Amino acid sequence: MSTYNDRPWLDHYTSGTPADITADYSTMLEMLRAAVTCAPQVTAIRYFDGELTFAEVDAASDALAVGLQDNGFRRGDRLGIYVQNNPAFVIALVAAWKAGGAAVAINPMNKARELTYLLADSGATALLCLDELHASVARDVVSSGATQVSTVITCSALDWQTRGDQRIFGRVTRERHEGTLDLLELIDDNRGREPRAEPPRPGDVAVLTYTSGTTGQPKGAMNTHGTMAFNAQTYRDWMGLTPSDSVLGIAPLFHITGLIGHVGVALLLPCPLVLAHRFHAGAILDAVREHRPTFTIGAITAFISLSTVEGATAEDFSSLRLIYSGGAPIPPAVNEQFLAKTGHYIHNAYGLTETNSPTHLVPPHSRAPVDPTSGALSIGVPVFNTAVRILDDDGVEVPAGHLGEIAISGPQVVPGYWNRPEATEASLPGGELRTGDVGFMDAEGWFYIVDRKKDMINASAYKVWPREVEDVLYGHPAVLEAAVVGVPDEYRGETVKAFVVLKPGSWTTVDELSGYCRNGMAAYKYPREIELVSELPKTTTGKILRRQLRTTNP
Ligand code: AMP
Repeated sequence: MSTYNDRPWLDHYTSGTPADITADYSTMLEMLRAAVTCAPQVTAIRYFDGELTFAEVDAASDALAVGLQDNGFRRGDRLGIYVQNNPAFVIALVAAWKAGGAAVAINPMNKARELTYLLADSGATALLCLDELHASVARDVVSSGATQVSTVITCSALDWQTRGDQRIFGRVTRERHEGTLDLLELIDDNRGREPRAEPPRPGDVAVLTYTSGTTGQPKGAMNTHGTMAFNAQTYRDWMGLTPSDSVLGIAPLFHITGLIGHVGVALLLPCPLVLAHRFHAGAILDAVREHRPTFTIGAITAFISLSTVEGATAEDFSSLRLIYSGGAPIPPAVNEQFLAKTGHYIHNAYGLTETNSPTHLVPPHSRAPVDPTSGALSIGVPVFNTAVRILDDDGVEVPAGHLGEIAISGPQVVPGYWNRPEATEASLPGGELRTGDVGFMDAEGWFYIVDRKKDMINASAYKVWPREVEDVLYGHPAVLEAAVVGVPDEYRGETVKAFVVLKPGSWTTVDELSGYCRNGMAAYKYPREIELVSELPKTTTGKILRRQLRTTNP
């Protein structure tokens, strides 16, 4: 049996593909600068019936960066981006870099409690948000004084539609929010001015993306310019993407898959990125029919929804030449059904927020083998420049073929978590990421994930950490104890279930608790099932036995 050092996976690389690559660009901004130099008039973003060229993205982000600086944004500052998938996201991301700072990518599904935590933890001083998110969530969060945000910029999802030849000034008439700046006005007012900031360095944080990692509260993974740029290049070189490709943005841009697999790839090639405001299968299928993208990566459930839209045919998918799915296991049977319906095989991709996504990919011309024991589809083989080991509970490497925790090092691994030296040391000792995923490597170098050491629940690639849901439940006056686990779900893979013990003398219903949770957290997190129980199974030291709760679930 080979060892990890022998790198048996290299046999699966397409012939002539080098094992290690050298990064062309060391920062994300260098990629944009090159795109603007070589392809200024090429479409960078298609959105509804509008489009922006690379030159337009460059000019708009210059102007926004100046607007940010005029409002006190300095080198190293953070701009929270709290919008859906639309051009404003990309422009704000680039503007934060041009103004010398970083972005904080925020899930637009987040409610007040979550937004407050992310803004306060990241120390963001500026925030871009959609009108409706401002009115419903952000206004109160900012005025509560619990964050350091002093500049709020609002925009509309419809700002970017074409209006005649005024492609980027498609302003919609809308209510103005007191005490906020308007994105398009800020851009208009500063058009032609250049931001004053040193270019970012490879080690500078480009984006903070929040994850609980293997344990605890959400932490900001420090996705640096260098780690992000490296993995954008991984996509390009692994998948053989060229400027004649175009990318379908099916994953949310706030997630690392969208940030690099969509935005990073489009900036690097350069090529168009097709965006749809939010995940609505019908709208995305319309965009596919109209714009004919060639490459995409997203969650398996998104592809299933797309292929089952009424009237969807194989012809609709014919422009796509390569599809990858990441973030959650691909059930082999689901892949077969998708293949039968669309003629496309979905390639598995594995990675984490902390690795700027892919560390393992199925090569474009291969089919992943299935582990006969667990039935798991292989996650593929390690990508360029990546070292992988499998470790036992004491952190000692186990021989190939044996189960253990997957540990990864390589140029795509983040240097740590924002302001969390202890969590960084625990999860990234010596720079090697302990993933919390349990798996093995077979004799041919294919990797499989069969279990998890971390408490994370994976619901359609949306990650839910029990602690976040339990914290909300503990805020309910009738709740004495709560434990949250993932239980199998036919469509999502897993779903969130809460076991709740009520305080003696208190009374509430499952429906009332469910409504309470729904109001207190992002929609994908609230428990779809709640069971009231008289006690929770515990160890003699009082630790809740989650595994037992998971397995006793029917
Ligand atoms: P995130 O930080 O949201 O990207 O989540 C990373 C986690 O998603 C990993 O630690 C895995 O548990 C899970 N994951 C990612 N890709 C896959 C995959 N292809 N198959 C199974 N689980 C995956």
